[in-house]
Amino acid sequence: MSPTYDVIVVGLGGMGSAAAHHLSARGARVLGLEKFGPVHQQGSSHGGSRITRQSYFEDPAYVPLLLRAYELYEEVERATGREIATLCGGVMVGRPDSRAVAGSLRSAEQWGLAHELLDAGELRRRFPTLNPRDDEVALFEEKAGLVRPESMVAAHLELADRQGADLRFNEPMLRWEPYRDGVRVRTAENTYTAGQLVVCPGAWAPRLLTDLGVPFTVERQVMHWFQPVNGVGSFLPENHPIYIWEDTEGVQVYGFPAIDGPDQGAKVAFFRKGGITTPETIDRTVHDHEVAEMAERMSRCIPDLPGTFLKAATCMYTSTPDEHFVISRHPAHPESVTVACGFSGHGFKFVPVVGEIVADLTLTGTTAHPVGLFDPRRFAATPA
Ligand SMILES: Cc1cc2nc3c(=O)[nH]c(=O)nc-3n(C[C@H](O)[C@H](O)[C@H](O)COP(=O)(O)OP(=O)(O)OC[C@H]3O[C@@H](n4cnc5c(N)ncnc54)[C@H](O)[C@@H]3O)c2cc1C
Repeated sequence: MSPTYDVIVVGLGGMGSAAAHHLSARGARVLGLEKFGPVHQQGSSHGGSRITRQSYFEDPAYVPLLLRAYELYEEVERATGREIATLCGGVMVGRPDSRAVAGSLRSAEQWGLAHELLDAGELRRRFPTLNPRDDEVALFEEKAGLVRPESMVAAHLELADRQGADLRFNEPMLRWEPYRDGVRVRTAENTYTAGQLVVCPGAWAPRLLTDLGVPFTVERQVMHWFQPVNGVGSFLPENHPIYIWEDTEGVQVYGFPAIDGPDQGAKVAFFRKGGITTPETIDRTVHDHEVAEMAERMSRCIPDLPGTFLKAATCMYTSTPDEHFVISRHPAHPESVTVACGFSGHGFKFVPVVGEIVADLTLTGTTAHPVGLFDPRRFAATPA
């Protein structure tokens, strides 16, 4: 006789671990299946830090979700004692009409979020490591900062485990099919049945969700750590904000204060500048020319940062054509399958609220959160 669960969650990375927590917190009997070990480096939820912010240049529709995510960071911190969020402040830098500045301002104004606009001189005075051109400005948001992906995933797994979820690692789902009123899931070792299936596959979405109708693109992204010229002092979180810095071509770099100790440097990366890849074929080697390009770019914006190159690591974005998420009941299996995928390189800050939304959709079929932007049917081909 196959073991029976209320919900099977496939993928226990950022989103799946949060879903397993919220589902088990509501009393569901949860099985979690993960291809790799707990808190691994093979997907999209590693590298020590992720930016979080509320004046969201991507679209004001994300703001209510961010307000809820911030509440949940605190809940998870209280429940586990882990350090999840460091709200060191953040600057979105660029020309006044750049997406980073104008888009952030739009969200801040629409939602009445606290913010300041700084001209180049004020920005230099306030944060002496930053070296804007005279025609660049910044939106400063005190509540911006960073969240720690490995801590967040570990915390959600710990909470799910405490609440009785059955979490199985190194046991990938091979396939699933409709079964009676629910689903049947097969792994190499076992066959499981459940009323509901939740799929949070990260970069494996193109393979696991072929009938979703979303043209995902998986991109290779590089994170770089540099030891600043004069050490990390002025880069510590009490002195240094997170930043997103857009050039005149619309290319953004973003970075963090030094959060890992005196010798571990500070992290910086390009936002959306990666080549197309797959989880099976991604080149995990970071090449000299990539490091040189980053050092060159930073030498203009933050001249003290590219002192000594320390290390780099790769990660994957799974993007949709409009760079908005997919969080929904599966249109082809609306009674039994929920999906959370296509986070397009900006999903981590939403992890806890995505867990809450997935639990709502799975257990009640609907959610009070505004998720209209994330419906996969927006990509359905329009009839000729
Ligand atoms: C370099 C980089 C920087 C980023 N910066 C930011 C940022 O500053 N702010 C921000 O908000 N977001 C950022 N993001 C995006 C954010 O990290 C991702 O949107 C988020 O981590 C995606 O989570 P996920 O759960 O979809 O994927 P993952 O965490 O990768 O989880 C998917 C899981 O599914 C598992 N899986 C796949 N197939 C199977 C199977 N068949 N059976 C069982 N398990 C399976 C995988 O092993 C994996 O654990 C960044 C991403 C990268 C790569």
